[in-house]
Amino acid sequence: MNDKTKNVIMGAVVVIALVLSITLISRSFSEKPIKWVVPVTLLCGNCNHSTVISAEEYRRALEAWSKKYPGSAKPKMTFSCPECNEQKAYKAFKCEKCSNVFFQNSAGMNALPDTCPKCGYSSIRDGNKTK
Ligand SMILES: [Zn+2]
Ligand SMILES: [Zn+2]
Repeated sequence: MNDKTKNVIMGAVVVIALVLSITLISRSFSEKPIKWVVPVTLLCGNCNHSTVISAEEYRRALEAWSKKYPGSAKPKMTFSCPECNEQKAYKAFKCEKCSNVFFQNSAGMNALPDTCPKCGYSSIRDGNKTK
């Protein structure tokens, strides 16, 4: 094997290693669970007060909830409302268009779960169009 062939082989090995590491990096980025990054909107079913908690707060609450109710038959997760102190706040959606806060499926079962009952906007359906 002469030096020229050796260089070509070494070059090919470096390129393959680079491509592999780039694929691995981009894959680990895309697998990041997006739901833990976005703040969560809560709406109180008792006094209609809406509040926003951080993704980290939500994750911790979810963990505590899973510990409290192990197994798959969990009741719908509730949060304590900072306004009326009742354990009646639920995860909700905030309309990107009119800032209305509403529960999932408020616009009826035929609409997408995040459809705003006030203006009919759904970020699942309309989100990519406006951006
Ligand atoms: Zn409340
Ligand atoms: Zn709306």
